[in-house]
Amino acid sequence: MEAGLTCPNRDGTKGTGGCVYCNNASFTEGILYPGRPVEEQVRRTIASSGRLSAFRRLLVYFQPYTNSHAAPEELERLYLAAFCHPDVVGIVVGTRPDCLEPPVLDVLGAIARDRYVSVEIGLQSMSEDVLAGINRGHTVREFAEAVAAVRSRGIDTAAHLIYGLPGDTRENFVAAAGFLSGLGVQGVKLHHLHVVAGSGLEEPWRRGEVRVPGYAEYVDACADFLERLCPEVAVLRLMGTAPRGILLDPSWEKGSREMSRDVAAELARRGTWQGSLREEKR
Ligand code: SF4
Repeated sequence: MEAGLTCPNRDGTKGTGGCVYCNNASFTEGILYPGRPVEEQVRRTIASSGRLSAFRRLLVYFQPYTNSHAAPEELERLYLAAFCHPDVVGIVVGTRPDCLEPPVLDVLGAIARDRYVSVEIGLQSMSEDVLAGINRGHTVREFAEAVAAVRSRGIDTAAHLIYGLPGDTRENFVAAAGFLSGLGVQGVKLHHLHVVAGSGLEEPWRRGEVRVPGYAEYVDACADFLERLCPEVAVLRLMGTAPRGILLDPSWEKGSREMSRDVAAELARRGTWQGSLREEKR
């Protein structure tokens, strides 16, 4: 769903340029009724999807921009609006580590007392240099503090991580599995670097200065990551997608189903599984 909020890394609160890989149009592919009030989006989306109406327990995912970047009273109104349909049992709030101040957590914590709440927080890279280079506008430490603050309220949290960011390494990506496991996140969403039109990466990519990972390389890196991830952490996504009209690179012609199949096949080929090479247990 679209909450109609902005992002502090774009609206001047924190910065104006946004993260270099970001064009929010790439996050809105599954949003059927953008720009409409949350209640209307929820009701119409459920009514228009035969698949959704077969499930009786639905989560509403607030995805584009930063969905905790508003006054607490406004956020409470938006979050509660998601429960306008009887099949909605929880919300998932996508946000940044620097937009989870105590008043916002109070709102989320109150909702979480009798409904499901998960807060998804973007880390994207374990490297401070990479975070600075991509204009994220927050640090790894801020991410860790945000996870701790959310967990202290008894709220689930998931981390977003990108493989292949400019200047990043496979070792950093793989090391994030242990880092996130140690922080006690409940889920991870992995994403390969892609270049979308209108993002800060478009021009450097056109100049040949940005390399995106190949499919086989990414499958391999995901397998490395999963081997070191606590088996209790849910893997909520293995790849990102973007509308064909704005996706510049890569064009793998593979979907999430193929990616899941190929990562599972790679683990089977190695004789390993999620957490099998994890050193610290939690
Ligand atoms: S990726 Fe998220 S935090 Fe970065 S500019 Fe886009 S909406 Fe803002």
